[in-house]
Amino acid sequence: MTKFSDLNLNSKVLKAIVEAGYETPTPIQAGAIPPALEGRDVLGIAQTGTGKTASFTLPMLSLLARGRARARMPRSLVLCPTRELAAQVAENFDTYSKYLKLTKALLIGGVSFKEQEAIIDKGVDVLIATPGRLLDHFERGKLILSDVKVMVVDEADRMLDMGFIPDIERIFGLTPFTRQTFFFSATMAPEIERITNTFLSAPERVEVARQATASETIEQNVVMFKYKRRDRADSEKRKVLRALIDSEGDKCTNAIIFCNRKTDVDICAKSLKKYGYDAAAIHGDLDQSQRTRTLESFRNGELRLLVASDVAARGLDVPSVSHVINFDVPGHPEDYVHRIGRTGRAGREGKAITICNPRDEKALNAVEALIQKEIPRIDNPIKSEEPAKPRKSAKPNTEVEAEGAKSPKASKPDDKPVKHARSDDKPAKRSNRKSDKQSGGNQVVGMGDHMPQFIALSFDERRAG
Ligand code: AMP
Repeated sequence: MTKFSDLNLNSKVLKAIVEAGYETPTPIQAGAIPPALEGRDVLGIAQTGTGKTASFTLPMLSLLARGRARARMPRSLVLCPTRELAAQVAENFDTYSKYLKLTKALLIGGVSFKEQEAIIDKGVDVLIATPGRLLDHFERGKLILSDVKVMVVDEADRMLDMGFIPDIERIFGLTPFTRQTFFFSATMAPEIERITNTFLSAPERVEVARQATASETIEQNVVMFKYKRRDRADSEKRKVLRALIDSEGDKCTNAIIFCNRKTDVDICAKSLKKYGYDAAAIHGDLDQSQRTRTLESFRNGELRLLVASDVAARGLDVPSVSHVINFDVPGHPEDYVHRIGRTGRAGREGKAITICNPRDEKALNAVEALIQKEIPRIDNPIKSEEPAKPRKSAKPNTEVEAEGAKSPKASKPDDKPVKHARSDDKPAKRSNRKSDKQSGGNQVVGMGDHMPQFIALSFDERRAG
């Protein structure tokens, strides 16, 4: 088996690896580091969780250990699709470069240009950026890319999903032809293939097993969920979510809950909080400082439940997530693999539970086809619910929102427990509704929350009105 000490890494980098507690290189590291140190381009086909960040960070630091950066001219460039991922890569650099005198800058949206410019002005060895923010700096004339010796594109397939490929091509064109390139993608879509053929020169191709096959430590389950009332489908689903969290009890130390739509991320987080759960949302419409704070509190164990969209959570490295709950079956089957890969990391046990509506069964079939196994079904934790007639007028929201688009304002939780059917954990609240007061507290059963006021009036009051 390969050892880190066999890989020809800089001795100061090796020392930092030992301190990080790594004993042996992961397959992507063993495959990518030697050609990278020889100065070759590397095409890594690997997903997050495989140790791919270190597979490019470690050789980069070794290559950059000697030499100095000039003002505004970074010596290396790492492009990441999201701010969180960029911040995570920056943390990796800090860990492995602690015994080297290298400088780095992180160029991500939501942070002031001035602050970032001041750092670039001093000269940085490593520049970690999201493509849009990097080009903003370039266009302001504050950044020169002609001294870039090593360029990394991380999570290229997600860059493609997010429409960043033209930016990436442009950035490639701004860097010297002689640069060394490390390019990582979980899949090789034709567009990605085209980019690598254009910008990489005779790369060493290193492919590691799909995470779906590697994550044997993750117990996977599906709850088939059929709403009782169509107009309450979403709130019933949130009730299932709460029941699932409750049924896992203390085993669920922390969880990431994935929703397909940003509006649902907000609604779920608000709803969970309302029911007394320790939850917060993370998605692309939240401002950067809020996202960073939320993520930090989740990482350090202060926050138990992180409700997330795919893009915001992509590549997040939170080593000890006990559970992943898919509030929705993801539309792209690969996202299922990414999502459940947040748990069961580094050989730990993990549990992934997916809630599936009848209308999501097709998506579930696609997931099962991709991972080549059937996900065991478990019972809906809520069994004893009275059936109710669906309302004709209600229309389920089927719109899938893309990250980056504006959220519609339907972000108000609508799952107030119906009074007569309470069997859940909502703290009891006194109603201030006029109709309740007028009816002297007598409840009219069977009208949901939308009882017309006139029904609550006494016969005399109605006549007088
Ligand atoms: P990544 O795929 O880069 O997101 O890494 C996933 C996790 O594996 C991170 O928490 C790394 O710190 C960890 N890791 C990376 N390389 C190794 C290694 N050789 N041994 C043990 N853990 C590692």
